[in-house]
Amino acid sequence: MSEYRLSVGMEVHAELRTQSKMFCRCQVAFGGEPNTRVCPVCLGLPGALPVPNREAIQMVLRTALALNCQVPVDSVFHRKNYFYPDLPKGFQVSQYEETNPIGYHGHLMIHTSRGPKRIGIKRVHLEEDTGKILHLPGGGSGVDYNRAGVPLMEIVTDFPPDIESAEEAREYVAQLRQLLVYLGVCDGKMEEGSLRCEPNISVRRADSETLGTKTELKNLSSFRNVFLGTEYERRRQIAVLETGGTVAQETRGWNEATESSYLMRTKESEQEYRYFPCPDLVPLHFDRADVEAARAALPELPLAKLQRYQDEFNLSPQDAQLLTAERPWAEWFEAAVAAGGDPKAVCNWMNGDFARLLKETGQAAVIPGVESDTEGREPARMTPEILVKVAKLVADGTITGKKAKEVFEKAYMTGDDPASMVEGQTQISDTDFIRQAVADVIAEHPDPVATYRSGKEGVLGFLVGQVMRRTQGRANPPMVQEEMRRQLDETS
Ligand SMILES: [Zn+2]
Repeated sequence: MSEYRLSVGMEVHAELRTQSKMFCRCQVAFGGEPNTRVCPVCLGLPGALPVPNREAIQMVLRTALALNCQVPVDSVFHRKNYFYPDLPKGFQVSQYEETNPIGYHGHLMIHTSRGPKRIGIKRVHLEEDTGKILHLPGGGSGVDYNRAGVPLMEIVTDFPPDIESAEEAREYVAQLRQLLVYLGVCDGKMEEGSLRCEPNISVRRADSETLGTKTELKNLSSFRNVFLGTEYERRRQIAVLETGGTVAQETRGWNEATESSYLMRTKESEQEYRYFPCPDLVPLHFDRADVEAARAALPELPLAKLQRYQDEFNLSPQDAQLLTAERPWAEWFEAAVAAGGDPKAVCNWMNGDFARLLKETGQAAVIPGVESDTEGREPARMTPEILVKVAKLVADGTITGKKAKEVFEKAYMTGDDPASMVEGQTQISDTDFIRQAVADVIAEHPDPVATYRSGKEGVLGFLVGQVMRRTQGRANPPMVQEEMRRQLDETS
């Protein structure tokens, strides 16, 4: 079998997290009764005039800047004309050609198992979503226009494509999603269709310069399916070529149950969309000072955060990745470090017991006084300050690590001060108390004491154990050990 190389281009559609639709004031939401969030503008009734959503434009601008794109001075909305029932106006407002979109010529750096990789971005543009065609239970079809006119951002990778494996395809989508959620422009819910990706996949013999014929894959609703679908298409196309066939340019769907792709339609020719500038909308103008202000206001992006956590806090790449996966989690970590926590100790508590308890209770980590979207989950009582207090009780030897887990869980449930929880049951480090306890044990166990003094130091553990037993495990073990040795050696 010859060697083959894979090329994957990716189109990602992200629904923007605006309050209202792109050109009208209808609410943006998921689900609900069909055709309840519609008006003359998004239904395309005669005479209705669109008013662009400023928030949506700002969101695309921020994304374009975060993806290192150029931003043109003027950006134009075009009409993309085609007839389909999910498009009430008979055209979709979109953007066209290389320098018209809000962002072009950018890139995203992704980390892969083989190191960092630069994925070129051709363009980032703004358009409006279509409605949804529903197959009715009693037969026939209906259209729900609740989604029609929702602001939609399209992000297209460069040509020729940089993505060369199924792993890179999955990582690109996963890390792009992470970036969009960090920027607060998309909720990233692939299962609800807020983030939709369509890879176009081709293979070619390793010695060939020209790209092979591509197939486009639809209905991929998870990172796993992006990986499986790309890998499936790679193998399928190689099998076609190996048996002397040719790959047909077609659109294929993904069947999750059978983990295989199927033919949806053959692309006979490129559709003629008769693009022209939308006469109802003036071009967007991006003042250079505004662009620079938007750039300066970007939050720290995931990749930069990942690197900083390793450099500044000396965390392992794995730890840093877990902490930076989601922005609210990273901010919680930073709040705990700002409250005086040791970064490594905070990291261990967060990724260990705290993450487990949040999962078990279905609660969300919140920072007191900081507004956050918990997506309907109850806020947890654990605060950065409480976590830091528990970590300090362990660090200064007040409680053992085992006891600390108990205290942490109790503080998680109640939100109470850990210091008050361990009063009267803290680890005993009082020198006089330990000296007396050791002396008592020596007096009560003459035989093991004699054994020790005859040179068999193995019984030391037994004698230390007796002190721990008398103190219900609260005596400081290293202090007991040292004092026991001292008294045994001294009086021998
Ligand atoms: Zn509307």
